Formats: sequence, C-alpha cells, structure tokens
Amino acid sequence: MSGRLVIVGLGPGAPGLMTHDAEAALAEASDILGYGPYLARLSPLPSQRLHASDNRQELDRARAALDLAASGKNVALVSGGDSGVFAMASAVFEAIETGEAAWCTLDVEVIPGITAMFAASARLGAPLGHDFCAISLSDNLKPWSLVESRLRHAALGDFVIALYNPASRARPWQLGAAFDVLRGILPPTAPVAFAQAISRPEERIEIFSLATADPGRADMRTLVIIGSRASRLIARPAARPWLYTPRRVNSA
Ligand code: SAH
Repeated sequence: MSGRLVIVGLGPGAPGLMTHDAEAALAEASDILGYGPYLARLSPLPSQRLHASDNRQELDRARAALDLAASGKNVALVSGGDSGVFAMASAVFEAIETGEAAWCTLDVEVIPGITAMFAASARLGAPLGHDFCAISLSDNLKPWSLVESRLRHAALGDFVIALYNPASRARPWQLGAAFDVLRGILPPTAPVAFAQAISRPEERIEIFSLATADPGRADMRTLVIIGSRASRLIARPAARPWLYTPRRVNSA
C-alpha cells in the first residue's frame, strides 16, 4: 500500500515546543486529522484538508486516518503533547490490531512530542529528577479501583507521581479521591503542584502541600505533580519556590 500515516505530537501548546520533525511531517501531509482545538493550533497550507473530530471518538478517528492512508493519502493524525502518552498512537495500533489486515502494510510513523509532565516539570524546577510515574485519573477506559491501586503502589514505592486527566466536568470527584488515597500514605508536607495550561497564554502554576491541596483548583488542562518523600522546595524571595527531586536517595 502506498499511503502513509504519521501520528504527530504537537507539544503542550507553545509553537516553540513543537519539534522540527513534527512541523516537517505536518507540512508534508495531504490530510490532517485531530481533535478540533489541536487543529486550531495549526497553520495549514491551502492544499491541506483538515478533519476535526470530537475528543472522545479516538478509535473512530484512528480508523478514519487508516482508511484515508489506505486510499493513498499522506495523513497526519495529531495529539497534544506526546502522541504516545495517553494519546492517539495507542488508538491507532489498537485499530490496526483489530482491523483490516492490509493496514499492517501501511507506512506508519510515530513522531514524538513534549509531553505535559516534561513541560510542567521544566517550569517548576526539576521534580522528575528521580524515579517517577505517570497515571491518568480518567476512569473512562479503566476501573477506578485500578486507579486507586496504582496510586497506592506508586506512593508506597515513593515515586514522584504525575497525574494526567485529573478533572473534567464529567469527572469532578476523582482528584479528591486520589488525594485521599495518597494522604493515607505520604506525609502531609509532600509538595503538590498544579500546572495548568503550560506554555499557553493562560498558564497558571500553584504549589501546595498534600495537606492543603484543593482538588477544585484542577481542570482538564491541568497536570498535577505530587512529590516523593525526597522532593523539596527551595524558597525564593519574590517568586514561586523551585520544586526539585534530588538525584540521590540513600535509603528506602
Ligand atoms: N498526549 C498528551 C496527554 C493527553 S491526556 C501529552 O503527552 O501531554 C490530557 C491531559 O494532559 C490533560 O488533562 C492534562 O492533564 C495534560 N495536559 C495536556 N496539555 C497540558 C498543558 N499544556 N498543561 C498542563 N497539562 C496538560
């Protein structure tokens, strides 16, 4: 088959945080598919066709992209951040695994992007400087009991925890429930950073402790980072403190 599908991570928002490879892949595409607000970030060429879709229909969007590529088009499918982190690349491979055999012969390439936790970490200091994990709080595709179990194990393992999808209008209680799980294990002083709309004009960063963190501060554009026992704040006279996790940990 002659068609091509590139799955492109656009980064967290600012054009400067998009990679050159992502820009080049987009420039070559005949058709670009993605969630509407992500497409709105692009400056397409007059010859390019944009196909906007709803946020929730990932598998349908992946199949539509594969169908277009199979018809010989040069297709780009875009995600925010990194295309493989809670994003479209998995949906494409899921569609390929369960779909038409001919899709396996397509030229498929995944172009990485700067994921939200790396963009947020850079703003905060270096909270991901030692072992960390990423957990999505969305229970659309997994049971909440599994989210709780992973939170518990991550806290017991003393990982720094990056929480994606902490809250939305349809999922208002999950972050509060997550904090309850963590408060049973981590010290009340553990730092909790809310990194909202990083690298966009409406960016907002707030740092609390686990004892004082208000889950109501998060929305669907927020990434929450919870420090480990080793994470620390460095106070600054007239600025937000730096948050970092030292590279060395001496005992378990
Ligand atoms: N593929 C994306 C993640 C998609 S899941 C990535 O790699 O970043 C969507 C979640 O990502 C949001 O709920 C939020 O938690 C996080 N996110 C995406 N962009 C963000 C940004 N600019 N600032 C803060 N969090 C962001």
